[in-house]
Amino acid sequence: MKKYILAIDQGTTSSRALLFDLDGKPCAVGQQEFRQYFPANGWVEHDPLEIWSSTVASCRSALASVAADAADLICIGITNQRETTIVWDRQSGEPVHPAIVWQDRRTSDYCQSLRQQEQLVELIQDKTGLLLDPYFSATKLRWILNNVEGARERAEKGELAFGTVDSYLLWQLSGGRQHSTDASNASRTMLFNIRQQCWDDELLELFDIPRNLLPEVKDCAADFGLSDKSVLGAEVPVTGILGDQQAAAFGQCCFHPGMAKSTYGTGCFLLVNTGSEMVKSSNRLLSTVAYRLNNQTSYAIEGSIFMAGATMQWLRDEMRLIKTAADSETMARATSDDLSVYLVPAFTGLGAPYWDADARAAIFGMTRDTGDKEIVTAGLMSVCYQTRDLAEAIAADGASLETLRVDGGMIKNDYLLQKLADVLACEVHRPTVTETTALGAAYVAGLQAGIYDSLDQISSKWQLDKATKPEKDEQWRQARYRGWLDAVGRTRSVV
Ligand code: ADP
Repeated sequence: MKKYILAIDQGTTSSRALLFDLDGKPCAVGQQEFRQYFPANGWVEHDPLEIWSSTVASCRSALASVAADAADLICIGITNQRETTIVWDRQSGEPVHPAIVWQDRRTSDYCQSLRQQEQLVELIQDKTGLLLDPYFSATKLRWILNNVEGARERAEKGELAFGTVDSYLLWQLSGGRQHSTDASNASRTMLFNIRQQCWDDELLELFDIPRNLLPEVKDCAADFGLSDKSVLGAEVPVTGILGDQQAAAFGQCCFHPGMAKSTYGTGCFLLVNTGSEMVKSSNRLLSTVAYRLNNQTSYAIEGSIFMAGATMQWLRDEMRLIKTAADSETMARATSDDLSVYLVPAFTGLGAPYWDADARAAIFGMTRDTGDKEIVTAGLMSVCYQTRDLAEAIAADGASLETLRVDGGMIKNDYLLQKLADVLACEVHRPTVTETTALGAAYVAGLQAGIYDSLDQISSKWQLDKATKPEKDEQWRQARYRGWLDAVGRTRSVV
């Protein structure tokens, strides 16, 4: 009978479950979307129970699609939307408040007030690798304790549990028996000391978080307990957890310093492995835990861009210049390579390395003959230039990109891959299995379950679908990138 690894991929808009065979080949997928709640300007919430029910439904549907059941599963790996914050009652499992999603900005003013103390910003970056921002869990958790009636008292008494989504799913999966997380998810809470690999007392005090709320932090490949029989019909060991971007890097086998992956979905996340040393960024990138195995931590530098595929959605839905995202490729191929039109997609501000929340989008350099295809091409090129911005910051921090492994919905677009290679002056590699996030969760779980015995063995499974080499010369590259930097400069809120 065929055996599988179940990878749960709990994302921001949908929950998915994939079955991989022991060679890492995807065999089945189940998926269910769930509701997004926007109760106030800048607030984004999920219902934890919907997160859970959609996850279970996806698992069952993946199993049913290949007529498999829990007895065919060797292990479960979890990967998840990161930073999203949930607090629940340890007895009943009942959440005390909706999940506060990573996008939620309700603690902006509080973060802004803390930022006045420069040494605090330094301290937080030094300990956690993160920038002081509402994005991370700490201020969201503090908000719940301060704003939900009785929550702080119940927390002090040990009645409540905090977790990121992985931890909440594990609690539910195990029938309330396990309250743990992994080091990669812990590294996104802004409460975890990534150098010492422990919850940090000074930060807990700063954010007023009782220690007894927190999950135990384990390696990414670890014994996280058994799923309860009631969930899938039989007990299955949960043996791996990784945050989504770390899982994608793991699925792309970025196991050595300098290896990098970039995921081009709605937004874009680039991670470079920096090895066993935490590299503290001087260029507004994040340092984070890539993975921790056998108590050995591998670190990464991370940069994120808000608008990648989302710019295609804007061109399609608001501007109506394309019918489908794929049309962008045909139009770009009919446009001059020396295009001097720049679209800076700062619709919601600019992410790394600018972190300019008040910048706004604009198109520059239009002439009388500028038409729809130039604007669409400028949209695609903006993805390349923004990646170059990240690459520049990474290089300034002392790490460099050798080749870039790519994944995400946009990488079907071969024109984009070519322009990425041209703008970055680096080879761009697309793997055959592009479900890298779920694959990373499957691999890490498989390591602990004994299916794989080393990272080298996992690496040997990575297969190249397409390598794209730079075709343009340095003069072209410099001229285009100078034009981009000039355009970005004009969109900045403060110069
Ligand atoms: P997410 O996981 O963030 O929901 P996906 O990885 O599924 O996103 O990627 C979807 C994004 O990729 C969409 O924003 C879509 O506009 C973009 N996209 C899909 N196909 C193409 C294409 N051929 N060219 C450019 N963009 C594309």
